[in-house]
Amino acid sequence: MVKNIDDSLHFFSTEKRTGEHSVPCKVSCDMCRSPIFDEGRNTVLAYPASFVFEDGRIPLDFQPTAHIFFSQRVMEVPDGIPKWSGHKGSSELMQELTNDEGKMPKYKGVPNADSNTPAKDP
Ligand SMILES: [Zn+2]
Repeated sequence: MVKNIDDSLHFFSTEKRTGEHSVPCKVSCDMCRSPIFDEGRNTVLAYPASFVFEDGRIPLDFQPTAHIFFSQRVMEVPDGIPKWSGHKGSSELMQELTNDEGKMPKYKGVPNADSNTPAKDP
């Protein structure tokens, strides 16, 4: 059951093709229209930035368990989490890194972010 407090949610009934709350429906943020969940498919589209944990630590239940559609990835993700070519459990498991020569993993973050000192030559 979804509570639309302060009309902060936008509903789109996929059967009636209207904005009324009638399951099955897609639910998004009323302000920016970011998708939140698909009521009827029991699917939550959880964006990490949508959650703020009091102690700043991510609970284990919120940590990723798989990458899906990894065959269409735009970057390598060497994180040790299973990578499926399509949907989880109904496609092929893929290896962690590419075999393509000349391609290296790309990191979005800064390696050794807690250290501002440049790497020393060995
Ligand atoms: Zn929003």
